[in-house]
Amino acid sequence: MPDQPIRPTTPWPWIPPGLEALARIQLSTNFQRGEMSCRCGCVFGLQQEDVNPLLVVALQALHDRIGKLIEIVSGCRCADYNRLKKGARLSQHVLGKAADIKVPGMTARELYREASARMVLSPTGHGVFSGFGVSDEDQFVHVDVRRGLDFMVVERWCYTDGKEAPWRDDSYAA
Ligand SMILES: [Zn+2]
Ligand SMILES: [Zn+2]
Repeated sequence: MPDQPIRPTTPWPWIPPGLEALARIQLSTNFQRGEMSCRCGCVFGLQQEDVNPLLVVALQALHDRIGKLIEIVSGCRCADYNRLKKGARLSQHVLGKAADIKVPGMTARELYREASARMVLSPTGHGVFSGFGVSDEDQFVHVDVRRGLDFMVVERWCYTDGKEAPWRDDSYAA
């Protein structure tokens, strides 16, 4: 389930007072720590080590590929918040290895195709994300780096009524 999208011109409401400067530290060229931190306000995700570095590399590569602002709908989640959002019990969000993303002007299927393309890439010629969840209902894409550098095999699923459901090809998309 998506959270509120980021509005870059307003303060991030989930960042506790006094921590805004920390939240504005760049994770990479186009991403800041605050975007990835847990929306419950618990500050999980604000420390550099909370976010898996491969996830940051992959998100930046995707940004560079499409050349558009990527909204992080949900990044790191503490266990309590993950439960509240009815996330998978072994959610990659809890491990700091996942983000749910949107790009204005792109459908979830279009964004998925870019995120899973072989050019979003590592020098070895493979994609970097190893988990993909596509929501046609809410138009977001879950991406994660669950397999680390062993990303020859990827997992894919869709969401139905906000829950993980079997992968469906484009042709079945609404
Ligand atoms: Zn939290
Ligand atoms: Zn997700």
